[in-house]
Amino acid sequence: MKILVTGGCGFIGSHFIRRLLMEGNNDKIKIINMDKLTYAGNPNNLKDVKSDKRYKFIKADICGRRAVEKCMKGTDIIVHFAAETHVDRSIIDAGSFVRTDVLGTCVLLESARKAGVEKFVHISTDEVYGSVEKGRFRENDAVMPNSPYAASKAGGELLARSYFVTHGLPVVIVRSSNNYGPFQHPEKFIPHSITNLLRGRNIRIYGNGSNIRDWLFVKDNCAALETVMKKGKPGESYNVGGGHEKTNIDAARKIADIMGMRDCIEFVRDRKGHDFRYALNWKKTAALGWKPETGFDSGLAGTVKWYRENEWWWKPLVS
Ligand code: NAD
Repeated sequence: MKILVTGGCGFIGSHFIRRLLMEGNNDKIKIINMDKLTYAGNPNNLKDVKSDKRYKFIKADICGRRAVEKCMKGTDIIVHFAAETHVDRSIIDAGSFVRTDVLGTCVLLESARKAGVEKFVHISTDEVYGSVEKGRFRENDAVMPNSPYAASKAGGELLARSYFVTHGLPVVIVRSSNNYGPFQHPEKFIPHSITNLLRGRNIRIYGNGSNIRDWLFVKDNCAALETVMKKGKPGESYNVGGGHEKTNIDAARKIADIMGMRDCIEFVRDRKGHDFRYALNWKKTAALGWKPETGFDSGLAGTVKWYRENEWWWKPLVS
């Protein structure tokens, strides 16, 4: 079984690869990790598995047809994580998001079609649905992305869907909520807050902090992704939520409490087009036999501990 993972040196992709190599009885798998190593890709994320004989890293851009076709040869399953992922960056430079998240996805789909892969697992996001004040999005709801990041992810997944309908490529789409955990780049909210406190700085909150996110521990997400990879039905989408909705100010206070800090939160001008709330109904994924296992308090405490103990990892990434 050859699995091609794109973006495996990023946050979620690296956890997913480690899970496939370390957990379960996966002696017969071969994993190819194709990653361009942008600022977000970090070989240190997979330091512990780099000499595993079942694993191979290839530095390449998913927009490059030749490199993609080479990696795709003999692939049974592709799990496509590679993307530009930071909303703030997409507000400043949408072009790089369209290039990787849409064009790069197109190159992969076309190559996967030619290679006749068994399954194409397309990693999308809850952000494609846009914001909702009440209730929870289901898989068949319309996509209504609001940030250039969400729009580029929606473009990529719509293209993936079209390859299922038009060409019969066995695509499954996964839309997960906000992940957190070890190895997440310190530009993202939770690690940004933790590493700011560790450096004697304040946590910075956009607007008044009332925006709501549903937090999902990264290992729970990877369990869901493996479930969908194995049991998901081609042509279907699957929501994956954590079941822990928190306002940003509540999440920030929890981090500050865990770290024993007080009066360390400051409010800054709101992000343009800031979505108020993301919320998913993930019963369809639960029906495949998955549920999130990690409580927010314990997941957050473990994450804080990890950043405390691993300055070597995050210090070079912050200014
Ligand atoms: P990340 O930014 O940590 O990692 C992205 C990886 O993709 C990096 O290793 C980077 O080097 C690689 N990459 C970027 N452009 C590339 C290109 N052109 N060619 C090859 N590799 C390239 O991202 P993440 O947080 O791990 O997210 C992974 C996926 O999950 C993304 O598709 C994202 O949209 C989705 N997602 C993330 C979250 C979250 O909370 N982090 C939630 C839902 C969905």
